[in-house]
Amino acid sequence: MNTALFLSSAGNDPGKAESLSNRIGNFFRWTITMLWTRECFVCGEVAGNAAVCLACEPMLVRLPGQVCARCALPVPLEGMLCGQCLHRLPYFDATRAAFIYTQPVREMVLALKHGKGFGLIDWLGGELNAALAGLTVDCIVPVPLHARRLAERGFNQSNELARRLARVSGLPLRRQAIIRDVNTPKFVGLRGKQRRSAVRGVFRAVEDFTGQHVLVLDDVMTSGATLNELARTLKQRGAVRVTNLVVARTLRLRRQ
Ligand SMILES: [Zn+2]
Ligand SMILES: [Zn+2]
Repeated sequence: MNTALFLSSAGNDPGKAESLSNRIGNFFRWTITMLWTRECFVCGEVAGNAAVCLACEPMLVRLPGQVCARCALPVPLEGMLCGQCLHRLPYFDATRAAFIYTQPVREMVLALKHGKGFGLIDWLGGELNAALAGLTVDCIVPVPLHARRLAERGFNQSNELARRLARVSGLPLRRQAIIRDVNTPKFVGLRGKQRRSAVRGVFRAVEDFTGQHVLVLDDVMTSGATLNELARTLKQRGAVRVTNLVVARTLRLRRQ
């Protein structure tokens, strides 16, 4: 829309002053609507303030009601632990996930990781906040990247999500409290024990967490090895409880 043409259409008639102010008001409302209305991530239709339109919403798969109390893998009965957590109890106490890691959420997470999904962060912050329902925590800690990886990427998607969640939930964000000293390679092909030793000692807590229930934020939880190591680090520095909150949980079974 051409602003000059739009405004000049009221002419110089003083009787049209009110109408002009209405038109200016409408113009700003129109601009704001255009700025805030998004295209659906999946089909490209108008999606309002959400990342996906109403027609595509059912494609977002959420976790079932009955999940492992520790790691959020589906289990037959509510409140029970999955076989893997029974076999080796993780350091974290609970896990919540907004979605299951399947399309189109997988595509969203990859977009975030590659710096193309910044438009999703506000919406995901709301989804993460909804996944927190009924939970009382003391602070948010995003899973840190190693300084070199952060420099390569220019941003940490977990930081961005945590910043947004802190704003919506009002929870304190402790972004500088944990340092990642070791740049871990990808876990592809590693079995459970190898994953655990690959992440052993990669984090360092530079602040104290005595008595705190810490919410650890990450984009995806797969084997849980990294989150487990972070929970171990936090508990060494006094955290009494650690809950993971992730955008998406993979349902691929962990190999021990
Ligand atoms: Zn759609
Ligand atoms: Zn489990």
